[in-house]
Amino acid sequence: MPTDPELDLEALRARYRAERDRRVRPEGAAQYRGAEGGFGYYADDPHAAPGFTRDPLHDRVEVVVVGGGFGGLLTAARLRMAGVDSIRVIEKAGDFGGTWYWNRYPGIHCDIESSVYLPLLDELGYVPEWKYSPGAEILRHAQAIGRHYGLYRDACFRTGVTELRWEDPDWLVSTDRGDRIRARYVVVSSGTLDRPKLPGIPGIDTFEGHTFHTSRWDYGYTGGDANGGLTGLADKRVALIGTGATAIQVVPHLGRDAQHLYVFQRTPSSVDYRGNRRTDPGWAASLEPGWAVRRRENFLRVVTGNPVDEDLVADAWTGSAHLLRNLVPTDVVLMSPEEEEIADFRKMNELRARVDALVEDPATAEKLKPWYRYACKRPTFSDEYLQTFNRPNVTLVDTADYGGVERMTGKTLVVGDEEYEVDCVIFATGFEVGRSDVMSGRLPVFGRDGVPLLGSWRTGPRTLHGFYSHGFPNLFHLGPLQNASSVNFVHVLDEQAHHVAEVVAQARKRGACRVEPSAEAESAWVDTIQATAPDLEEFLAECTPGYYNNEGKPRRRQSFGKGPVVFHDLLRDWRESRMDEVLVDGE
Ligand code: NDP
Repeated sequence: MPTDPELDLEALRARYRAERDRRVRPEGAAQYRGAEGGFGYYADDPHAAPGFTRDPLHDRVEVVVVGGGFGGLLTAARLRMAGVDSIRVIEKAGDFGGTWYWNRYPGIHCDIESSVYLPLLDELGYVPEWKYSPGAEILRHAQAIGRHYGLYRDACFRTGVTELRWEDPDWLVSTDRGDRIRARYVVVSSGTLDRPKLPGIPGIDTFEGHTFHTSRWDYGYTGGDANGGLTGLADKRVALIGTGATAIQVVPHLGRDAQHLYVFQRTPSSVDYRGNRRTDPGWAASLEPGWAVRRRENFLRVVTGNPVDEDLVADAWTGSAHLLRNLVPTDVVLMSPEEEEIADFRKMNELRARVDALVEDPATAEKLKPWYRYACKRPTFSDEYLQTFNRPNVTLVDTADYGGVERMTGKTLVVGDEEYEVDCVIFATGFEVGRSDVMSGRLPVFGRDGVPLLGSWRTGPRTLHGFYSHGFPNLFHLGPLQNASSVNFVHVLDEQAHHVAEVVAQARKRGACRVEPSAEAESAWVDTIQATAPDLEEFLAECTPGYYNNEGKPRRRQSFGKGPVVFHDLLRDWRESRMDEVLVDGE
């Protein structure tokens, strides 16, 4: 690649390093507070009517699925397709939908094209209305899947599973509603984006104004709905804390409707072109059976650098696929690290130039420019966010030099020498990413001989393909665990759901007494993970802090480094020729 006279690599590297250094906080992830204890109300369900009660269940089903987000929903749907009738989904929320149940903030959209994000489109005969769906369309689709496969019949909503205990030949599933349900199989898909996290700003607990988290939007206070029209804010001074993927979508609405909006930014997001549009009815009518699965496979191949005849989605994700290897690790090498760094600088220069083109005040534009490599933070896309800072009632407050908002007192937020009095603070501060209920210990699991799962995983998770573990028969995990992921996470979940359903179907057909990997098969997979785990520490150490790099303290990822395309092929081959490894016949 020829060198570019406009790229001063040394100067850019130094700038990135300086921007990173001024944000790293010694407490790392400990700077945050979970929505629990005195902060538990931040996680309350604003969508379900209060006062719900029901009698405890003491019965038996064939499969319990923990979690009714897309992972659990797809597993249940695929089990139904495989002929399993007795399935109970247990879900904390009041309905299916997972993150799309909780998050209904104004402007909510999926940032992945809906035709590749929404699952089971062929099966339900549905073509999304928009290139990028609003949250309501996604939630409706999740509910449609629930109805289509009869999953509402036995579902338990507003119920949290509190313990899983193996009592041969069943699992005993206990819940916070006093249920004691026996199940032959349990699938845990309790999600990783459901627990809001809050900044540990001194004074946050005594702040006198109104507060809430974006994932539990308080329309009673703001008025309006997910399309905007937040009339309740017309006379309010509003502070939004955070400028991640959620804030990018919320800010245009708050800017339009609040009397005054203060956006408290610590690290700017990269904000690329969006180009959302309604689906062309002519295109929808031309689709052949199997179109959706082909399209999402095409997207997966493109974003992981695999060759395709045509880039079907052709958007800002696929256009930046050559920069995603540090976000979606694969073994596909498109260019040398040096070439990749230059391509990255070019892309980020383009995004910084976009800020200059769209933001009128040069000082504000300067603060909104992202100075880090493309894959350091989740890329975002908006055709309205940056322009919102041209409004006279919108102020950007850069907190980078102070580690974020420094203090909250009375109704005031303090940053350096400046004080901002507001009526309301909205936390767009994200989630406890990557800490599933099982991994965090919130959902204790006891296997054969009462062995606790986390005890057995003292030195790290031990699974075969991320799904199951020796000593924990008939128990399946869904989500990011010793497997490969992608930016289109629902695709990954659907492949996992498909796998679990096929294994259960085969176990039933064979009359296997249980599904359980041998200790040897499990060890071999743990070795594979160790051998292929992506080596991203060096890259992530240079990134501004965030949850991708454990707030500036990167850890080795325990994932399959050859990427999702290879992983899905590997699972398919294994199902065809080696499923016996986990099907244990009567003893
Ligand atoms: P993020 O964790 O991405 O962002 C949190 C924001 O809060 C960051 O800007 C962070 O700054 C800021 N922050 C935290 N503490 C402070 C503080 N003390 N003072 C000032 N700012 C602070 O959360 P999001 O909800 O935006 O997104 C979470 C994830 O949800 C995304 O990464 C994505 O995976 C998913 N998502 C997906 C969407 C989709 O369309 N598929 C849409 C929206 C979200 P800093 O960066 O400096 O830490």
